[in-house]
Amino acid sequence: MPKKSAAASKRTSSKKASTPVKSAAKADAQLAEYRRKRDFTRTAEPQGGDVPAKQKLAFVIQKHAASHLHYDLRLELDGVMKSWAVPKGPSLDPTVKRLAMQVEDHPIEYNTFEGTIPKGEYGGGTVMLWDRGTYTYGGSDSQIDPIDGLRRGYQKGDFKFVLLGKRLRGSWVLVRTRRDERGKAQWLLIKHRDEYAAEGSDVTAEHQTSVATRRTMEEIAGGKSRVWHSNRTDDVEPGEEKRPAAAARTSGTPAAPTSAYQRLMARRTR
Ligand code: MN
Repeated sequence: MPKKSAAASKRTSSKKASTPVKSAAKADAQLAEYRRKRDFTRTAEPQGGDVPAKQKLAFVIQKHAASHLHYDLRLELDGVMKSWAVPKGPSLDPTVKRLAMQVEDHPIEYNTFEGTIPKGEYGGGTVMLWDRGTYTYGGSDSQIDPIDGLRRGYQKGDFKFVLLGKRLRGSWVLVRTRRDERGKAQWLLIKHRDEYAAEGSDVTAEHQTSVATRRTMEEIAGGKSRVWHSNRTDDVEPGEEKRPAAAARTSGTPAAPTSAYQRLMARRTR
């Protein structure tokens, strides 16, 4: 076991002071808005609070055809998924800044949610798992505890991180620009220059199927598996390839972008 510096062991011991019970209570407080907005007797979305925080932090991007098509970027921090709605989705082009509107913290269980939220419910529409994996601290302070670094970056509004997904990799930053009247923060999502940057590319157009089930938006909306069972997904690790249950749902036919998808795209520009 590598020797720890005095500072590192001090951090470890102060971290131990925040017990699992305490962090669960913290996650519950953070999830209050998420739960208030939803009727769990009507939607199959998870209520959350059952997944303990792990050493490896999860990230997920869900493509969400709600009243306006957008991509939900979620980054795990302190027992919840910090969440942003990105109307145009991520871009690998470092010259492109994508608006990212911060939304309520989501439960970690949300990371395996793919399906359809009933019309008329909060966020009603189809949700696709577009990318997933883990992420790490991406700042330049080599001395800092990585999780502390992420916390500080998030609080400062200069949130640097490295994604290890199937479709998105490398270094990114979320920069907080302002808060609206309701205190909701607006951020910009920007790809840093590295080997994963690609000027002029369009990564959301390149990948139009689920990273988990390979289904198109139309296939998910058509719903061979409309009901999401939280007990089936407990063992799914971030970044893991599709589960047998998910694989079984996708029949052999590879689907091309369909007219329904194009209708969704058209709706987006309205
Ligand atoms: Mn959304």
